[in-house]
Amino acid sequence: MRYSRIADAYEKIEATTKRLEMTDHLVQLLTETPTNLLDKIVYLTQGKLYPDFVGIEIGIAEKLAIRAVAKSAGHREKDIENDLQKTGDLGKTAQRFLEKKTQVSFFPKPLTVERIYETLDKMAKSTGSGSVDLKIGLLASLLSDASPIEAKYIVRTVTGSLRLGIADMTVLDALAIAFGGGKETRDQLERAYNISSDLGKVARTVAEEGMESIIQFKVSPMKPIRPMLAERLSSPTEILEKLGGKCIAEYKYDGERIQAHKKKDQVILFSRRLENITDQYPDGVEYIRKHVKAEEAIVEAEAVAVDPETGEMKPFQELMHRRRKYGIKEAMAQHPITLFMFDALYVDGKDLTLQTYPIRHRHLENVIEQTDNVKVAEYTIAEDPEELELFFEKTVESGSEGIICKSVTPDSVYQAGARGWVWIKYKRDYKSEMTDTVDLVVVGAFHGRGKRAGKYGAFLLAAYDPDKDTFETVTKVGTGFTDADLEKLPQMLKKHQIAHRHPRVDSTLDVDVWFEPAVVIETRGAEITLSPIHTCAMNAIREASGLAIRFPRFTGKYRVDKSPEDATTTQEVVEMYRNQLKKIEG
Ligand code: AMP
Repeated sequence: MRYSRIADAYEKIEATTKRLEMTDHLVQLLTETPTNLLDKIVYLTQGKLYPDFVGIEIGIAEKLAIRAVAKSAGHREKDIENDLQKTGDLGKTAQRFLEKKTQVSFFPKPLTVERIYETLDKMAKSTGSGSVDLKIGLLASLLSDASPIEAKYIVRTVTGSLRLGIADMTVLDALAIAFGGGKETRDQLERAYNISSDLGKVARTVAEEGMESIIQFKVSPMKPIRPMLAERLSSPTEILEKLGGKCIAEYKYDGERIQAHKKKDQVILFSRRLENITDQYPDGVEYIRKHVKAEEAIVEAEAVAVDPETGEMKPFQELMHRRRKYGIKEAMAQHPITLFMFDALYVDGKDLTLQTYPIRHRHLENVIEQTDNVKVAEYTIAEDPEELELFFEKTVESGSEGIICKSVTPDSVYQAGARGWVWIKYKRDYKSEMTDTVDLVVVGAFHGRGKRAGKYGAFLLAAYDPDKDTFETVTKVGTGFTDADLEKLPQMLKKHQIAHRHPRVDSTLDVDVWFEPAVVIETRGAEITLSPIHTCAMNAIREASGLAIRFPRFTGKYRVDKSPEDATTTQEVVEMYRNQLKKIEG
């Protein structure tokens, strides 16, 4: 197939602002394309060589492209640069220079799509020393044989500035008209795309095998599925109404979404945007390899950074340490992860995407071997708004952003690539910095793990209620302690250790070691939230809820000057919570 046919279609597409016309031109082009080239044409019209998840990009730097244009046009780079200043588009500049050239030269041999694709592919894949010259040489050779208009589009394609505006949905429309038998087949084509993330493959399949194959299209391991997304509502009552009165409510973990594909020993991890992020998570790869008990599987998880010493969840930002090429091993040790699994889309030959969520969830629970680092996302089955609210508060309190409520009806299939009302998120709608530090009493401790093995990993802290003369728990703190602190604290606390909860301590939590209220430490948190677990100010704001301080951090100050009764009071915590709300509302 001649490349000029494509360049011609591009010219027409570029000239229109109407989507329908654009689709018509595309339909024309696709129907004239030999079926074995359809996938390549589809990628090329979107400025690509492969579907995104393959991770091979054409892009070469503008500077190099200038050199190639100069070489093929027989001009100095400076001339090209000067013209580029005027046009602002290297494609246009290439076109202008080649127009001048063709007036004096003979017509070269016609360029074929096959040659263009192969050459661009070679350019994209060449790396290492000598690759710069090789790329320039390859591009210049194409341009030397190109007509001015072809040159314009070749240059735009290689510099990543084709921008014809042909979106995925336009291609699907065009495929439905060209090969599906009409617009009404669009939805089925879209589904095939959503479960393969590969428009080229969909195009070739429908053209070569017809709609029958598209309807039979199945997910396959190692090809990412476009992720299902959640809608949002702001009350448990609304959520349950929307979901038909019942749902599976899950922790909404604050990490990075990972779609893990396993095929025997091979594992690939895709991000929410379907980039291949396998290299960032060697630990994640190992967890999937070992603890997904299937030959082949596609499962989804949220990867959450955890504190290596306390096992506590850390905010999403901590995962940024993984976004690097080098030093992954160190990042892994300092910022380990836990995978919270929340869906199973394929297990050993079975495509589960058209199964209901309860069925997929059962598969998930069967296929995952749970460990410290691989867990099924915590969930509850809720039919009552109050129950849902309570679960929500519990999750927020333990560091999550909220919950995701998932439909359990017969419609609860995996809607790949869609944001529907099958998943509904319920998040905290307020957020603010806690400005004051608080002085809290250490009433219990948890044994550490990892580097903190043999020491304490975290402490249970309480505020003081002078009215009741009790110490009510408000947070569990594990961060902010230096090694010296971790040596010192056991000594300070030893003499206060007791065999059971102190009678003046009000706690629903169990700890490894209890203390009588004595030691006061200064702590700073990110915010105060409602909590069904902590007893601080229980029922003061809401029935069956206390208050908790989130993301607490020891400031380094031991308030030896304070007796436990001088600690921050529960009333002060209530006050801080109210101020925080006022600040957000005002
Ligand atoms: P949002 O990004 O706010 O639209 O929320 C959806 C995201 O929450 C998903 O893409 C996941 O990355 C994340 N998430 C955390 N926990 C879960 C869960 N249990 N189920 C589904 N998604 C979850």
